[in-house]
Amino acid sequence: MEKYFTDVSEFVDYLELPSELKSRAEQASQKFSFKVTKEFASRIEKGNPKDPLLLQVLPTESELLEKKGFVSDPVGDRNASKRAGLLQKYKGRVLLVITGSCAINCRYCFRREFNYKQVPKTTESIEGNLRLIEEDNSVEEVILSGGDPLMWKNMELEKLFKRIAKIKHIKRLRIHTRLPIVNAKRIDSGLINLLSKVNLVIYFVIHSNSCNELSPLVIGALKRIKSVGIPVLNQMVLLKGINDSVEEMEKFLRLQINNHIQPYYLHQLDKVNGATHFFVPVSKGRKLISELRKRLPGYAIPKYVYEKKGFTSKFPL
Ligand SMILES: *Cc1c(COP(=O)(O)O)cnc(C)c1O
Ligand code: SF4
Repeated sequence: MEKYFTDVSEFVDYLELPSELKSRAEQASQKFSFKVTKEFASRIEKGNPKDPLLLQVLPTESELLEKKGFVSDPVGDRNASKRAGLLQKYKGRVLLVITGSCAINCRYCFRREFNYKQVPKTTESIEGNLRLIEEDNSVEEVILSGGDPLMWKNMELEKLFKRIAKIKHIKRLRIHTRLPIVNAKRIDSGLINLLSKVNLVIYFVIHSNSCNELSPLVIGALKRIKSVGIPVLNQMVLLKGINDSVEEMEKFLRLQINNHIQPYYLHQLDKVNGATHFFVPVSKGRKLISELRKRLPGYAIPKYVYEKKGFTSKFPL
């Protein structure tokens, strides 16, 4: 069975949604293609156009709206690029983009208009970027990003991890991925085995935004990662109609800490073209956080941040 839905029309039918949605979705998906795993789709409630998982993946006509302040490169990725696929904004850690593909296309993605064409996507072609990292002693952490680094096959990842571990000043490897959330089976024994053997301190930073994303299957996959001593942190994006209510957020954060998933960042939406309808004002985000503090332990509260161009870290809100 094919793992993905890439045809919006088929997806709309599968979810028993009104067929009017199809033509609008098809139009919007010409700018940023539609893609979702069948596993993620199976957690969407049928016939519910407001399902929080559905809203993250279904292209809509709102994406075609233009709004002042919404741009193609909201976080200044282009200026931060040392070379295609190598970004550094912050001291001591570099972002290595190793693929442009993801298992799911999130409609609010800040890299929806990122140019992945020139990014080196194989162990061999990444070598140039690794040499640059090698020359810079001040870097101690490599963050694998994309796209989604776990789109790579285990064998290729193993080669890359080993190569990174050879760089003396690199102490930590961070993997930014949404794959455990959208295709839990990707966390297979081969991957766990190779993660357990890498001679680097590894951190997993996953990305999920609402309760139903953390199904029992997903939680099981995350457990396997933690079983080899790798901490799992979650980052989320504040999204209108998806997680911008105190009740939903409280439930979601509680679900995380009850499963040893450490809430990390709550990102204020990056103002990328096509994502205007997901916008939640900072004032509302701040209120949400202060309400959550009254209801949950301190370690359950994510850092509410914004990616500000030219700043030396994520900007705390
Ligand atoms: C977000 C980000 C990081 C990681 O920042 P942390 O605060 O360490 O999580 C690193 N590099 C770039 C370019 C980033 O956008
Ligand atoms: S998984 Fe991450 S990089 Fe990929 S589309 Fe979603 S937000 Fe963007």
